[in-house]
Amino acid sequence: KLYNEVQELKGNIRVYCRIRPLLSGEDTKSTVIDYIGENGELAIVNPSKQGKDGQKMFKFDRVFGPAATQEEVFSDIQPLVRSVLDGYNVCIFAYGQTGSGKTYTMSGPNSPSKEEWGVNYRALNDLFHISRSRRSAVEYEVGVQMIEIYNEQVRDLLSNDASQKRFGIVSRSQASGLAIPDASKHSVDSTSDVLKLMQIGQANRAISATALNQSSSRSHSVVTIHVRGSDLKAGTTLFGSLHLIDLAGSERVERSEVTGDRLKETQHINKSLSALGDVIFALSQKSVHVPYRNSKLTQVLQSSLGGHAKTLMFVQINPDVKSYSESLSALKFAERVS
Ligand code: ADP
Ligand code: MG
Repeated sequence: KLYNEVQELKGNIRVYCRIRPLLSGEDTKSTVIDYIGENGELAIVNPSKQGKDGQKMFKFDRVFGPAATQEEVFSDIQPLVRSVLDGYNVCIFAYGQTGSGKTYTMSGPNSPSKEEWGVNYRALNDLFHISRSRRSAVEYEVGVQMIEIYNEQVRDLLSNDASQKRFGIVSRSQASGLAIPDASKHSVDSTSDVLKLMQIGQANRAISATALNQSSSRSHSVVTIHVRGSDLKAGTTLFGSLHLIDLAGSERVERSEVTGDRLKETQHINKSLSALGDVIFALSQKSVHVPYRNSKLTQVLQSSLGGHAKTLMFVQINPDVKSYSESLSALKFAERVS
C-alpha cells in the first residue's frame, strides 16, 4: 500500500469546509466568516447578533478559505484519490446550498481552464496518468460512468441515447465492479478523453435540466471512476472506485411556498440528503445498522460507503451575510457526520 499510511491514521470519514470568495456584485464587506484556523477551526458570526452571542465555532478536518486554489484543494486530496489504485472505494461529496461552490469544487466553472479544473478533471487525469506510469508492475484500466439522480430516478449522462432513458438500479455486479451496470462505461486513455467525457456529461446535465424545466441544482450528479488493476505476475486483480458527487442544493424551501412538481422535488432532495447524513452518521458511530435503503443516492453508493471505503465531504459555504442561516445549517449537517 503506497499511498495509505496517512489515511489510515485519520479514519475513514473526513469533512473539509470550503468557503468561496465573494463574487463581483456581492458586498465584499458583508461576510459571515470571523476566523479560519490552521487546524480546521472555523468561526462564523451571525450578522444580527452582537458580540460573543453571535459567534459560532466549528472544527473540521480542514478549512479552505476564499483564496484557496483548485490546485491546493486537489493536492490535499490526491493521496485519497490515489488510494483507488490500491483497491479502495472512495466517495467525495460536495454539500451546500445552491451558489456555494459545489460545482466549482467538483468540476470548475463552465469550460474551465486547466488551472480552474475541479476535482473531477484532476482526479481522472491523475489516475489515468499514474495507471500508465505504474504499468510495468500492474496493468490498470480506467473507466468512467456519469449519472444524475433526479426525483429518485437515475439517468445516464454519458449515454449515446438522446432520449435519456431512465432506468432502475440493478444490483451491484461484483465481477464487473460496476455499481450501476446499466449506465454506460467509457474507458479513458488520454487527457482529451477526460475533457470530452466531462463536457458530454455536463452538457447532458444541462439539457436534462432544461427538458424538465429544472436547474441542475435540483439533482445529484455522480461521476464514478472505476479502476481495475491486474498484477500479471501474481495473477491477482483488484478493483477500486472513486465516486465524485455534486449534491443537489441543500437550501430549505418553505413548504408553504412550493406546490406540485417543485414540492415533490424538494421532498426528494430533503429525503435523500437526510438519508445520506444518516448513513454517514451511522458509519461514523460504527453502528451495526446503516440505513442505506432510504434513498436512491445511498443505494447507488452502498458498496462504496462503509467497510474499508473512505469518505470525504466538502461542506461549501457562501460567505455572504444573506446566506447566514443556510451556511449555519450546512455547517451543522457537516458537524454531525464529522
Ligand atoms: P453550486 O454548484 O453550489 O450551486 P457554483 O459552483 O455554481 O455553486 O458556484 C457559484 C458561483 O460562484 C459560480 O459563478 C462559480 O464560478 C463561483 N465560485 C464558486 N466557488 C468559487 C471559487 N472557489 N473561486 C472562484 N469562484 C467561485
Ligand atoms: Mg452546481
